[in-house]
Amino acid sequence: MFDLWQSVLSALEQSVPSASFDVFFKHNSLSQNRDGRIIISVPNIFIKKNLEGKYNKYLVEAFKRNGITPEIIEFIIGNKKDDTVKSNRTVVIKDTAKNKPNTSTKPPTGLNERYRFSNFIVGSNNDLAHSACEHIVENFGDTRYNPLFIYGGVGLGKTHLIQAAGNGLLEKTPSLKVSYITIETFYREFVDFMRKKLSGFSDKYRDLDVLIIDDMQFISGKEKSQEEFFHTFNALYQNGGQIILSADRHPSEIAGLTDRLRTRFEQGLSIDIQMPDFETRCAILEAKSSFAGVEVPRDVIEYLANSIKTNIRELEGALNKMIAYCEMRGTQPNINDLVPIINNSGKKARRQAMSPKVIIEKTAKYYSITLTEICGKNRSKNIVEPRQIAMYLLRHELDLSFPKIAVEFERDWTTAIHAVQKIEKNLAVDFSLRDQISQLREQLYV
Ligand code: ADP
Ligand code: MG
Repeated sequence: MFDLWQSVLSALEQSVPSASFDVFFKHNSLSQNRDGRIIISVPNIFIKKNLEGKYNKYLVEAFKRNGITPEIIEFIIGNKKDDTVKSNRTVVIKDTAKNKPNTSTKPPTGLNERYRFSNFIVGSNNDLAHSACEHIVENFGDTRYNPLFIYGGVGLGKTHLIQAAGNGLLEKTPSLKVSYITIETFYREFVDFMRKKLSGFSDKYRDLDVLIIDDMQFISGKEKSQEEFFHTFNALYQNGGQIILSADRHPSEIAGLTDRLRTRFEQGLSIDIQMPDFETRCAILEAKSSFAGVEVPRDVIEYLANSIKTNIRELEGALNKMIAYCEMRGTQPNINDLVPIINNSGKKARRQAMSPKVIIEKTAKYYSITLTEICGKNRSKNIVEPRQIAMYLLRHELDLSFPKIAVEFERDWTTAIHAVQKIEKNLAVDFSLRDQISQLREQLYV
């Protein structure tokens, strides 16, 4: 039976994307195979649900390729292959949460009530991340997905999803102590603590049931904050608190992250959100317009979904602009009105095609220095100035925030602010600098 399961797994490995294979198949085992009735043991309900639904056809196919046509496939939870996980473990809400009265003095959660599962459109780009968040809400106390690390590009719904998890948890169990913050807030609070010479910063979060932290990539290179976050993380984790994190990239790709934090981030479940496909973009637009109470014809929806592909925030922005425009003119949404709106954001789209990496590379090339030099720590003037110019361009061409600029150069964001301000100031007086930058700008887009 073991051999059969190994062969089925090999077949699955070829047909299922590797990230999904790791999450949904690797930890299962074959418990029974008799007269076409197959029983598979899986570690938890999250995996069970996905195997019953989406992945069922892959399983059937994999068995068929091994000469077995399943009549019925059942899934039981527990009896994990290595038996380290107790079978059918019951999920208990932590006592701390149960015993605490739901007082009105509860500190603010930082959550925005607007972000809900009910207004989050699930598509193939985000269904894994969505199921994982729902799983945490439905099975609070089962801390195997701890931390849950959601990552993906800008405007793809990370903040929406992790806040929806927080709101969902509170809705189900109002006595839970949930806190949502961005890593920037964490950093600022920490710096403030240090300045006031207070101690015990990690105690601040230790008693939470759920800590949700957004935009973890900005912890890059901040060693003191990383150390403090490490203690906070451990304190909370040991208390059985659930931690949900987001970042714009996988933990292994966050530069300047200490190994021990990276290991912590990777010990739970890391799931990405991809760009939405056409159908999902249409579904999002339909949902948003019906929420706004406006009927938008299908061809307009499709035109919009075809024009903006990489960022849901942009998609939403264009839809809202169109709705406002039509309201002002008293017209119904139509493609003719949409074209100038899209073209207007065309310049933005062109900018979006430009990446920080290209700007940095082209700036280095323009000043005849290497990529290592421009990103490095060398303080000589002929290197520092191009570095500052690159930061200036990231700010003005891509509208990048200072923390984001800092990440590109593995520096503190105060350095990025200083650099951009210095170039802005010099531009007012230095004609040669102005020429250089305008030449560079032109070269960026060829
Ligand atoms: P991120 O944090 O990944 O940059 P956000 O969560 O801020 O992205 O999402 C940007 C905007 O797009 C928000 O207004 C959010 O509500 C909306 N959005 C993103 N994904 C979805 C989705 N799947 N369904 C509905 N709205 C979405
Ligand atoms: Mg966000």
